[in-house]
Amino acid sequence: MTFARRDYRAVVVGAGIIGLYTAYHLARRGAGPVLVVDRGFLSSGGSGRNGGGVRQQWETRGTIRLAREAVAAYRRFGRDFGTNVWFRQGGYLFLAEGPAELERLARVHEVVRSEGLPSQLLTAEQVAERVPGIAPGSVVGGSFLASDGTVYPFPAVWGLYEAVRALGVEVVLGVSALGVRAEQGRVQGVETSAGPAGAPTVVNAAGGWSAEFSRACGLEVPNVATRHEILATEPMKPFLDPMVVRASDGLYFSQTMRGELVGGLTVPHEPGTRRGVPSSPRFVTAMARALVGLLPRLRGLGVLRAWAGFYDDSPDGLPVIGEDPRLGGFVHANGFGGHGFMLAPSASERVARAVLAEPVDLDPKEFSPARFLGSGAAPSRERLQLG
Ligand SMILES: Cc1cc2nc3c(=O)[nH]c(=O)nc-3n(C[C@H](O)[C@H](O)[C@H](O)COP(=O)(O)OP(=O)(O)OC[C@H]3O[C@@H](n4cnc5c(N)ncnc54)[C@H](O)[C@@H]3O)c2cc1C
Repeated sequence: MTFARRDYRAVVVGAGIIGLYTAYHLARRGAGPVLVVDRGFLSSGGSGRNGGGVRQQWETRGTIRLAREAVAAYRRFGRDFGTNVWFRQGGYLFLAEGPAELERLARVHEVVRSEGLPSQLLTAEQVAERVPGIAPGSVVGGSFLASDGTVYPFPAVWGLYEAVRALGVEVVLGVSALGVRAEQGRVQGVETSAGPAGAPTVVNAAGGWSAEFSRACGLEVPNVATRHEILATEPMKPFLDPMVVRASDGLYFSQTMRGELVGGLTVPHEPGTRRGVPSSPRFVTAMARALVGLLPRLRGLGVLRAWAGFYDDSPDGLPVIGEDPRLGGFVHANGFGGHGFMLAPSASERVARAVLAEPVDLDPKEFSPARFLGSGAAPSRERLQLG
């Protein structure tokens, strides 16, 4: 038999950063036996394909608060888990190309500051000091928060994997969750490619495939998987501390400690997972143009590799966290778009609370799955998306 037990307190579908962090919070709370299944290998989903950006500059207060907690968690990750995730707080610098964008950034800056985070509005000259070589006249200013930064995603996933197993969580790779067994509107267990696993709760942490798993369980959801591309250049002498982002075209890039520039840009693709995650010449060309346009000194720099992954987009740009009102014990932990890594430590703590039916301190208008079910709740929206 593939599973060590017949029955669990919870089965988590997906061993990405969200599923593993959820399992960690459950285990730390002494929830009882937890099983995590993943049909791929560790880091095969978005958690092994992202830019590692961790920022607290957002339009919505709920997201800022989760991100702020997550920054604190990544700062102590090494102590908590014994693994170095190379969290480097070089800041996030949003560029404004014109007055309208600067005004928008100023509004975000006000919200961020009112949450107690010392973001700064920068002049074009101050931007140029932080982005050496930026093309003259390319920006009118920017906003900057020094405590934002980047992590290296792989050790975060591996570190959590080791940590949850040490806490007694069973993680089984190469097993697909096919659906749930439900009676009288409540989850009783999960059907998998390795047989059934009994549990009163299932957590849908399936990333870009979360909508497919929800539907396999009879639940229609509005999440859409979108393919996003990213690349790494040849290494350069270190010159750039912050993650640099431009909201108008979703351009973002940072310099890793090995000197490579890693970044992406929005290039639309057919929604859904059907075509997998290939890279496209269209992206590499658009990204090269955008980078060289902004930083002419990058002309001639080689691209080492390019890859892609799925965002799991919700209609309002906010994650979906909590029990589905249509099926007791079915807990959503998805819809993280391009920011699941940076919200994982704190968001998944709320997922664990939802599993244990403890109060969750998140505004249901922003995070609950019920917000898409025609409850009439006033919509919130997070538009500061990248990539
Ligand atoms: C190019 C790119 C750049 C990004 N940059 C950033 C960034 O800078 N900062 C940031 O915070 N976020 C970023 N993201 C987003 C981030 O990577 C994701 O939000 C995050 O990794 C989601 O984690 P997850 O655990 O929900 O999903 P995943 O890591 O995708 O894990 C889901 C897992 O579920 C498994 N699975 C799916 N269906 C089933 C099933 N039926 N049965 C069993 N297993 C199943 C999959 O195999 C997968 O391993 C980026 C994403 C991409 C693609």
